[in-house]
Amino acid sequence: MTEETKRGFATRLTHGSRPPVRSHGFVNPPLHRGSTVLQPSVADRLANAKRRFERVMTYGTAGGPTHYALEDMVAQIEGGSHCTIVGTGLAAIAVPLLAFLKAGDHCLMPDSVYGPARALAEGMLAGWNIETTFYDPTATPEALAPLFRPNTRVLYLESPGTHTFEMQDVPALAALAHARGAVAMLDNTWGIHHFQPFAKGCDVSIQALTKYVGGHSDILLGSITVNTEAHHLAVRGAASAMGHYASPDDCWLALRGARTMAVRLAHQEAAALEVARWLQARPEVAAVRHPALPEDPGHAIWKRDFTGACSLFGVVFQPRYTEGDIFRFVDGLKLFGIGASWGGYESLALPTNPAITRSATRMPAGQGVRLHIGLEDVADLVADLEQGLALLPR
Ligand SMILES: *Cc1c(COP(=O)(O)O)cnc(C)c1O
Repeated sequence: MTEETKRGFATRLTHGSRPPVRSHGFVNPPLHRGSTVLQPSVADRLANAKRRFERVMTYGTAGGPTHYALEDMVAQIEGGSHCTIVGTGLAAIAVPLLAFLKAGDHCLMPDSVYGPARALAEGMLAGWNIETTFYDPTATPEALAPLFRPNTRVLYLESPGTHTFEMQDVPALAALAHARGAVAMLDNTWGIHHFQPFAKGCDVSIQALTKYVGGHSDILLGSITVNTEAHHLAVRGAASAMGHYASPDDCWLALRGARTMAVRLAHQEAAALEVARWLQARPEVAAVRHPALPEDPGHAIWKRDFTGACSLFGVVFQPRYTEGDIFRFVDGLKLFGIGASWGGYESLALPTNPAITRSATRMPAGQGVRLHIGLEDVADLVADLEQGLALLPR
């Protein structure tokens, strides 16, 4: 451990990826935009082109100082050795899948996976003769083992699951993947720094930086972090081959967002728990899906593997309510916006219906709402939810 990695999370976010030289004393790194990168000579140009994955700048698509500053920040947040930034969180899912899967290979994905990842597997990957089997996200290693095939190359993980918040036993499942010669790939967007993917056995960690790192609902970005040189070359090679790139302006904004992320996360974690506990006590609510609540079925795993939680959780309403009732409740909220994404400063509510996408597990239809808790005053959010609940039939 270096002196730097021993420091606390907030200190590392504050002091990481700051300009070492040539910034004229300015606190923040400069923003570098560009396509052409001039080379000192033809010989240098030829030599440097071979080393573009080593951050030898040769052309805009190889990235520049602004990308590298953000990559270093994300790598240290997740405890990995190398990070690659791409244009969206979804691209950060697609790139490693394509880096580690080829025609004839098999992939395992949790049934609770982020919807567009499922669409990619069922659409383009299937079209290229890459077969995906969806598995119960709560499966034990013993239950999952029979689903592995000789050609299984990727075990995809997401914990907790999108919309339904099932916790996965990531260390045990990653160990199983390694025993079967597969790469363990995790979407760690919910976990952020609260789950350290490489210490827990993962090979690849995906983040939608769009969420808490950006933190202000004004950018889209994704990161792919790994912990070995070989995995880095595979991911960087795939991203480069497909021409992936991220705007340096957006990288700069993500770096700016990261500076305040520890404070935002701490506030939002506490606020979300307060709202979640209030909802738990309401007669309209059957269950709150939040792994940090002791009543949650995934709580034991969360407590073992995570150091905290973010501010995204699920509410399951009593079965007597129709989908129309749930829509009326969400439409009636005044502070919670209706929209996709999360991790910004503003609260959001979204009706969820996992029953329509599941293929390996059964879910009840149409009684779920996903809430993202932002930076508003908790009392105002609770009052808003209370007036929304009053719109439900008695
Ligand atoms: C939002 C999200 C993504 C994708 O991020 P985008 O930047 O919106 O493409 C990936 N995984 C999870 C779990 C997400 O919630």
